[in-house]
Amino acid sequence: MESLRNSFSTDGGAVSAGSPHRVAGEVHVIIGPMFAGKTTALLRRIKAESSSGRNVVMIKSSKDTRYAVDSVVTHDGAKFPCWALPDLSSFRQKFGEDAYNKLDVIGVDEAQFFDDLYDFCCDVADKDGKIIIVAGLDGDYLRRRFGSVLDVVPLADTVTKLTARCELCGKRAFFTLRKTEETRTELIAGADVYMPVCRHHYANGQEVIQSSKNILGSRALRTGSNLEALPSLI
Ligand SMILES: [Zn+2]
Repeated sequence: MESLRNSFSTDGGAVSAGSPHRVAGEVHVIIGPMFAGKTTALLRRIKAESSSGRNVVMIKSSKDTRYAVDSVVTHDGAKFPCWALPDLSSFRQKFGEDAYNKLDVIGVDEAQFFDDLYDFCCDVADKDGKIIIVAGLDGDYLRRRFGSVLDVVPLADTVTKLTARCELCGKRAFFTLRKTEETRTELIAGADVYMPVCRHHYANGQEVIQSSKNILGSRALRTGSNLEALPSLI
């Protein structure tokens, strides 16, 4: 009877969270390249939920320490306090059971860094009846899937793909181009290393980067040589 009574109780107009099977939660996914305003869109949504009286929390990966450890900060400097964690499964225990049960909305920024994103979204939305809004990169600089953000698309109520502005021509940018020769997938950096580009400039940019790598490689092999127009190594 206790659980039945709980399942019909409300809390300030919203159905209170915490008990299983009480209310259906929601999963919303915001994806796109770097500099597309994903964090800004997430913050706007979280702030709106907070202003309407909902209990909200923001989580980001502790891998991302580009701006501040205990804040989510957008590229244009807007801030919001957050929990910086190595994984999502530890959040509930670290946040505290009571506080967790009172939560209505959870925002997750830089979600591509969380390997346990899928299970966390299932627990939060399906079992605990909360809203979870996830923002992250869908692809890496080689346009391959990045982390587990795409895995939660089948769980989602909505998926929003944002675009940036191509740094070279100003058209809509869908991809992130890495300007350096680093090849690690997880190279956390900003505009010094990455730029948003349109399809045309992504294709051209990769060619330019590849050919400059080849030339540098050839020069390394021919130390002391004054030859120009060095042949490609590949
Ligand atoms: Zn372009």
